[in-house]
Amino acid sequence: MRPDDVGQVAFDWFQAQPGCMLLAVADAQARPVGQLERTSFLLRFGSQYGNAIYARRPVSLTMEPVNLMIEADDDAVEFAERALDLFADELWRGFIIVDQGRYLGVSGMIELLRATTQERTSNARKLRSLADDLRKSNRALERQRRLAEAVIEHIPSLIAVRGQRDGTLRLINRAGAEMMGKLNEKVMRRSAVASRPGDMMQQILRADATLARQPPAMPCDLTFTIPGAMQQRIIRAMQIPIPMPDDDALTLTIAEDVTEVRRATSRIEELALFDVLTGLPNRVQLNNRLISLLDTEVSGAMARPEVALIAIDLDRFKMVNDTFGHDAGDMVLREMAARLRLAVRPEDLSVRIGGDEFAVLVSAPSLATLSEIVAQRLCESMKQPFHIRDKIVHLGGSIGIAIYPHDCQNADELMKHADMAMYDAKANGKGTWRRFSPGMREGLEQRSALEMELRQALARGQLAIHLQPQMDIADRRISGFECLARWTHPDLGQVPPAVFIPLAEDIGLIGELGEWIIQQSCRIGRTLPAGMSIAVNVSAVQFRLPGLVECIQAALADSGLEADRLELEVTESMLIADEAQVMISFNRLKALGVRIALDDFGTGFASFTYLKRYAFDKIKIDRSFVSGLPQDASSRAIVSAVAVLGSQLGAVVTAEGVETDVQYEALERLGCMQVQGYLIGRPSADPYQYLQPPYGQKRMA
Ligand code: C2E
Ligand code: CA
Ligand code: CA
Repeated sequence: MRPDDVGQVAFDWFQAQPGCMLLAVADAQARPVGQLERTSFLLRFGSQYGNAIYARRPVSLTMEPVNLMIEADDDAVEFAERALDLFADELWRGFIIVDQGRYLGVSGMIELLRATTQERTSNARKLRSLADDLRKSNRALERQRRLAEAVIEHIPSLIAVRGQRDGTLRLINRAGAEMMGKLNEKVMRRSAVASRPGDMMQQILRADATLARQPPAMPCDLTFTIPGAMQQRIIRAMQIPIPMPDDDALTLTIAEDVTEVRRATSRIEELALFDVLTGLPNRVQLNNRLISLLDTEVSGAMARPEVALIAIDLDRFKMVNDTFGHDAGDMVLREMAARLRLAVRPEDLSVRIGGDEFAVLVSAPSLATLSEIVAQRLCESMKQPFHIRDKIVHLGGSIGIAIYPHDCQNADELMKHADMAMYDAKANGKGTWRRFSPGMREGLEQRSALEMELRQALARGQLAIHLQPQMDIADRRISGFECLARWTHPDLGQVPPAVFIPLAEDIGLIGELGEWIIQQSCRIGRTLPAGMSIAVNVSAVQFRLPGLVECIQAALADSGLEADRLELEVTESMLIADEAQVMISFNRLKALGVRIALDDFGTGFASFTYLKRYAFDKIKIDRSFVSGLPQDASSRAIVSAVAVLGSQLGAVVTAEGVETDVQYEALERLGCMQVQGYLIGRPSADPYQYLQPPYGQKRMA
């Protein structure tokens, strides 16, 4: 409003309101700036200046340079009485009510006088409460402002506000100032120019540019290299535009240092990728690597590489856990991981799949050969004894190889087929490796069918005991029989014990099966002529089962067979287990009066030291040494050494698999005491045929 208009409005107002003594004047922004007093206004308006009273000057000129002010807290009545004496003239023009110097409003003396004369107290109260209300609302506003400020200051994220047009910093909170360091102000004001690449400021400018490209309020991670510090900081930031009147749009930036959070997250991710026990990468990493190598969507349509997966499974690991406890099992697994690291090139991925299963992913040219070399090396490595505290155990491992794309079409199949090959290796004697072949699937299916049928074989009466004669060389008489289990399958016919005995061990059936074999053998043994003994095979797994001694005791008691007519044939693999435990069972059996023979001597790992430690009653030289006789010099050397050792230890030395006369003669010459083999007689359901006259005599030409 122009000054002359102000004059006109004021004049009209005073005319219309004869009681109005005072008018407040506001400036262009509607802020109260002062007052117009009726009398002096009219005087000036009428006589001195006329319509041009304000002479087009700013309204502020109409005010007294110094206004009479009254603190809102002052007692209005007291003030009026006191002030009337002193500045009667001034007071008529009104005064400004303030609160600690801040403008609250204007008032006139008339109201005050009215208050003093008529409703002194109530008006004074009204005036006071008016002042109070004004003050309160101002204080509430102030509190609001302080609250907002305090909140912004205490937010632990960076809060910064800049003008969009010129980029100047309007606000930054404490966390923001700390985060950006001293540079922030310069940068925010765009007043400095980055000097070197990697310079903090250049990084911030680059981050700004990145944020500006993001959709509003969409956070993104920015990386900063702090000069002088080794580590990078990760800042998660977003920008939000704030429209403002007067074209003064602002940009709000919210940012947070997430370095520690990200680091913790990546540590958790790392944990999820590695096996805690061995520190080897785990199955997740294997899957990831396979996906990145073989998944078309990830690798694109480019030629995919050849990869070989080697699946590894420790043999007899369950025995370690069962016999020595889980700590021992853990030790073996860690040791296994160390061997894996040694045997495998660093560029290949070695993982622990879980339990005692490991795998190696090999990618290289001429893969088939390489993976076979690695598999062979691993086999050898696993054959080395494992050390558990002060004990030594022999485990070995079975390995399967599958190669993409030759053996499979995708990652899933690659794993399945490597596993299949591994199972095939396990089913075929363990301690060895196999490359996948399509026939294996069938083999495995047959095996699981066979498992089912073996479980029922006993009840269905498909099992029998055949006896093979053993002859003493000294008098050429049959002194006993080895009992050999036979399974006649309704469709497959004879299933060899070398197949169904390990199968029974694997499926946990050997206890039941072994018990039946022992009972049946003892019963047959009882029917043989007095003095004839029977030998029953006891597998290593069976030997470690609890209750073996009791089972044998019961079989002897039930059949009435004398304990000294029963011989148990055990193999060297029995000795690998917890020695103390084996020794206890061994001695308990000996105490029953049962004899114990060491079977297949020379094929295992056991050395002559075992022969000294265990008081075996018999040593059975394996067929493989007999077949080389009489030509093979090393076979001869071994047979004669065992013969000498046996006589020193007081053990009978028996040769197995004797098929020819020349073998028999060589054995006789080398000092062997007993023979068993097709030459003497094949295993048979009818042992009496070997007892016909000439009674027990070897039928040789
Ligand atoms: P083993 O204990 O070494 O048994 C001797 C094996 O050699 C038997 O094979 C027998 O038939 C065979 N054999 C005997 N004389 C000759 C010969 O002159 N030439 C040749 N080439 N072979 C001969 P079988 O019956 O197939 O048994 C194989 C293996 O199965 C046995 O080897 C034994 O380890 C296991 N086994 C057999 N029956 C039982 C059993 O009742 N319990 C347990 N735990 N294992 C058994
Ligand atoms: Ca045997
Ligand atoms: Ca044998």
